[in-house]
Amino acid sequence: TKKLQPLQNFLSLISRRGSHLARQQYDVIVVGGGHAGTEAAAAATRVGAETLLVSQKIQTIGALSCNPSLGGVGKGQLVKEVDALDGLCGRAGDWAGIHFSILNRRKGPAVWGPRAQLDRQRYREFIQSELLSTPRLTVLEGSVEELLVSEPNPEEPGHHRVTGIRLANGSHLISASSVVLTTGTFLSGSLFLGQSMSPGGRIGDAPSSAGLSQTLRERLGLRIGRLRTGTPPRIVKDSVDLSLAHVHPPDSHPTPFSFLNTHTRCKPEEQLPCYLTYTTPGVERVVRESLHLNCHIQQDTKGPRYCPSIESRVLRFPGRQHQVWLEPEGVTSDLLYPQGLSMTMPPDVQLRLIREIPAMHRAEIHTPGYGVQYDFVCPTQLSPALQVKSTQGLFLAGQINGTTGYEEAAAQGLWAGANAARWALSMPPVALSRTESYIGVLIDDLVSRGVTEPYRMFTSRAEFRTSLRPDNADLRLTLKGFEEVGCVSTLRYQEAVRVRDSLQDALAALQALSLSTHNWRKKLPDMCMSEAKSTLLTGMDVLQYNDVSFEMLASAFPECLLPHMEFSQRLKIEAVYRPHCNLQKKEIERIQKEENMSLPQDIDYFSLPVSLSQEVREILDRVRPSTLGAATRLQGITPAAIVHLLNYVRHTG
Ligand code: FAD
Repeated sequence: TKKLQPLQNFLSLISRRGSHLARQQYDVIVVGGGHAGTEAAAAATRVGAETLLVSQKIQTIGALSCNPSLGGVGKGQLVKEVDALDGLCGRAGDWAGIHFSILNRRKGPAVWGPRAQLDRQRYREFIQSELLSTPRLTVLEGSVEELLVSEPNPEEPGHHRVTGIRLANGSHLISASSVVLTTGTFLSGSLFLGQSMSPGGRIGDAPSSAGLSQTLRERLGLRIGRLRTGTPPRIVKDSVDLSLAHVHPPDSHPTPFSFLNTHTRCKPEEQLPCYLTYTTPGVERVVRESLHLNCHIQQDTKGPRYCPSIESRVLRFPGRQHQVWLEPEGVTSDLLYPQGLSMTMPPDVQLRLIREIPAMHRAEIHTPGYGVQYDFVCPTQLSPALQVKSTQGLFLAGQINGTTGYEEAAAQGLWAGANAARWALSMPPVALSRTESYIGVLIDDLVSRGVTEPYRMFTSRAEFRTSLRPDNADLRLTLKGFEEVGCVSTLRYQEAVRVRDSLQDALAALQALSLSTHNWRKKLPDMCMSEAKSTLLTGMDVLQYNDVSFEMLASAFPECLLPHMEFSQRLKIEAVYRPHCNLQKKEIERIQKEENMSLPQDIDYFSLPVSLSQEVREILDRVRPSTLGAATRLQGITPAAIVHLLNYVRHTG
C-alpha cells in the first residue's frame, strides 16, 4: 500500500488543477464524485480517455454518506470484482479498514462476505489521493446544471446525442463525447427531519439542480421515479456505556479485499471492536408516539427493504427486539455509528429514543439522523453498457439507477466509465454476463427487470454463485478486463496471469497424484474416508474431504505440492467447488446447444411443477416464446429458469 500525501496539499493541488487546467473538450465527463463517479472517472482514464470529473465539493469526493463500512454478503463479492477490474474501492478498503471480518463463515466460501469497518477520513483521503495521481484525469469543483444534447437524428427519431455539460452560475460549457451521470441521492433531493423538509442531497450538501432533472425528464423523455433512504444519528462515543453491550471482535487475521495486497494497513492488533446491543419496548413506544411528528415515514415513496429505518422495523415487526450495532467511525473519531437505528423523527425525540437502550441511557447525539428522497432514472431505459438507449454517449451509474449502497454504485461506475471511454474512443461496448460476475447479475437485473425499491446485491441473486466466488474474481475478470475492456493495468494483468498459471500447475500436480483408497489411508491416517478399498482417487478428489487440507497433502507429498503452498486456501476452495461448477458449465453449454428446441404453445406456465418464480411464469405466459433461445432472450428470464424449463421440456417431450 502506498503512502498518502497530506490532505491539505492534495486539496490545494487538485483545486488548482480544477480552476486552471479545465479544458473545453474532453472524451468523457463524469458528473459526481461519489462511489460510482470516482470509479467511473478512474476506469475511463485507464481505458485511455481524457476525462473530467466534476463534483459539487472537492472535499466530499469519496465520502461515505451513511455507514462507515464496505463489503458484506453479496456486496463483498462486488468489491472483489471491482478490484479485479483494477478499480479503487478494494484498495481503499484495505487502506481505511479498522475491523475486518468475513461474514457467513459458517457457510461455504462461495457465499462468504468479506467486510470491513472503515475509518471515514482515511477512505476519502485514499480515493482523493488516487484520483490526483491518475493520468489523463482533471478534477473540477462545480455543479452541473444541464446536459447538452444534440437534436434527434431525423433518421433515428427520438435518438439524441450528448455533447457536453453546462455548469451552474454562468454559461460555462464543456463538451465531451460521453457523459457519465452519477448524482447519487442528489437528483431533486429533499431532506427530511421531523416535520421539516428542505432541499438537499445529503446533510450539508445542496441537491443537484432542477435543470438536470428537467433535461432528463423533459428533453430526453426519460421515465423518472422517486426513492428514499435514511441514516441514523451519530452518537458521542464517550457518552455510551459500552460495558452494557456485547463486544464483537474482528477476525484475528484481517483478509484484504484487493488481490494486489497481502495485508491491510491496520495491523491485526490495532483493529477496533464493534458492539452489539438491542432495542427495548421503550424504543417501540417512542416510535409510535412520534409518528405524527415524522413526515418522512408518512411518505409513500419506497425505501431500502434490507436496511430499514427503526420506524419501519418497529411497525413491521411489533413487539420484537431489534439488533443495534455500535460501530466505530474511525481510529481517532469520537463518534459511533448505531447501525439499525436509521430515523427521521425530530432531534429531541431521537435523543429520547436512543436513551431507551440501556447502553445508551446517557448518550449524546452529535448529528441527528435524517431521511432523503431523490429522483432515479428507471434503469430499463439503459443498455447492458449502462448507456441510455435513446441518448448516444449518455451513461448512468450508481444510486441514480435505483440501487443502494457503495458497492453497487462502485461496480456500476466502473462499468459505465469503461464503456463511456470506449464510446468516446470509437470502440464497441462491452458487457458482462450473469454467468461470469456479480456485476453482470447487477446490471442485468437493473436493465432487464428494473427496480421498484432500492436494489441491493445478495448472493441469492446470482444463479451461478458457486462459480462467482470472492476468491476467484481475478481469474474471472482481470484477464478479460485487460484483453477485452482495456481497464486493467499491465502490472495487475501480469500478476493475474502468474496466479492463473501457478494455480493450473498446482491443480495438475494434484490431479497427477493418483492413489488407491488404501494407500491414501496409509498416507493420511487421520482422514475419514467412506470409499471402497480399491477406488483410485486423485489429490483433487481427496482435497474435497472436509477433514483434508492442502497443508496435510503438502506434508505427505512435499516434493510435488510444497511449491504451491502460496495458494493452499484457493486450491482447497477450488477442489470443493469444481465438481459443481463443472456441472453448471455443462448446463450452460447444453442451453446454448438447445437454442432451437421448440416450446409447446399450449404449455400452462402457471402450473409447471418446476421451480420458477411467479414473475418468470407471468413473463413466459404473456410472451409464449416459441423456442428455448427466444425464452433466453426475454427480459427478466434468468439462466436458472431456462435450465428448469429445458429439463422439464426434455423430460416430458
Ligand atoms: P453519492 O455517493 O451520493 O455521490 C453523488 C455525488 O454526486 C456527490 O459527490 C455529489 O456532490 C455529486 N453531485 C450530485 N449532483 C451533482 C451535480 N449536478 N454536479 C456535480 N456534482 C454532483 N446506502 C446503503 O447501502 N444503505 C443505507 O442505509 C443508506 N442510507 C443512506 C442515507 C442517506 C441519508 C444517504 C445520503 C445515503 C445513504 N445510502 C445508503 C446510500 C449511499 O450513500 C449510496 O448508495 C452511495 O453513496 C451511492 O453512490 P453514488 O456514487 O451513486 O452517489
